[in-house]
Amino acid sequence: MNSIRLEKNISLSNFTTWRIGGPAEWIAQPKNIEEIKYLITWINKKKIPCNIIGAGSNLLINDKGIKGLSLCMRNFKGIQIDKNSGIVEVLSGEMLPTLARKAAASGLHGLEWAVGIPGTIGGAVVMNAGAQGDCISSYLESITTLSLTGEYKMIKKKDLNFGYRHSLLQNEKLIVVSARLKLVSGHSEKIRKLTNENLNHRLQTQPYKAQTCGSVFRNPEPLKAAKLIEELGLKGVRFGGAEISKTHSNFIINANNASSCDVKELIKYIQKKVLDAYGILLETEVKQCGF
Ligand SMILES: Cc1cc2nc3c(=O)[nH]c(=O)nc-3n(C[C@H](O)[C@H](O)[C@H](O)COP(=O)(O)OP(=O)(O)OC[C@H]3O[C@@H](n4cnc5c(N)ncnc54)[C@H](O)[C@@H]3O)c2cc1C
Repeated sequence: MNSIRLEKNISLSNFTTWRIGGPAEWIAQPKNIEEIKYLITWINKKKIPCNIIGAGSNLLINDKGIKGLSLCMRNFKGIQIDKNSGIVEVLSGEMLPTLARKAAASGLHGLEWAVGIPGTIGGAVVMNAGAQGDCISSYLESITTLSLTGEYKMIKKKDLNFGYRHSLLQNEKLIVVSARLKLVSGHSEKIRKLTNENLNHRLQTQPYKAQTCGSVFRNPEPLKAAKLIEELGLKGVRFGGAEISKTHSNFIINANNASSCDVKELIKYIQKKVLDAYGILLETEVKQCGF
């Protein structure tokens, strides 16, 4: 094994797309499975907790930081695509847009919706990420996981209890190591066109370049959280440095050095307004760490 860097007191704000978050007591970014196994042994020896981070695109991390090891998976990369069978084996730190582009270039259809989601495969499986009515679980066959005590397990899709932005992995702490997907052969040019259209649509309808975590609230189906918030005239409302996007009202922007507290207060404010007006308690989609 080559040497793994274990760093102390590193700000997690550079590990989230919101650019919010206090220091990790310890952080490591393993590049291969040996390094991950080494880190598991290390946390067990030290008896410290472990928190898993993908690309941090769905995380609100407390300004006070996180105790124990923050295990950041974004350097754990690798993709194997078999064009003939449509089988894709991908390591969990690979980014969804990279995978979507590579699948499109291989003439494989299924991930055109994924091109604009700035998360890793691991995070996508945990969250059952999706868009345009499609989601990762539609194409998943199985995943390989490593427990925090070091046991491997292959888990089939049917055992992952997938639902709308939900999977079993949100209740059980397992490291997603890799995923096996099955995509469908299609026409390369058509797939590429749809992929580009989906990204353009996002650029026009979301504050895509801003510091956000995507949609903050789950949709209270069949209703849309963004519509409920917009109808109450809340676009642009600001708490400290956190602001409800004027482009898409289910997005909260870190407009000016927002603290985790600013975001939490704004979330509570939106929830109260929507509850008072419609009797609906919006649930957050974003995962909160260190609170
Ligand atoms: C601009 C923008 C647009 C977005 N659009 C969408 C969208 O259209 N649809 C959608 O579904 N989401 C969207 N999101 C949210 C986010 O990108 C997804 O939820 C994504 O799947 C999260 O992946 P991640 O790697 O960033 O996970 P993180 O945010 O780092 O983590 C999310 C959860 O997964 C866990 N986790 C991450 N990696 C692993 C792993 N390897 N093993 C075990 N657990 C792990 C974490 O512990 C945490 O509980 C958007 C976000 C942004 C910023």
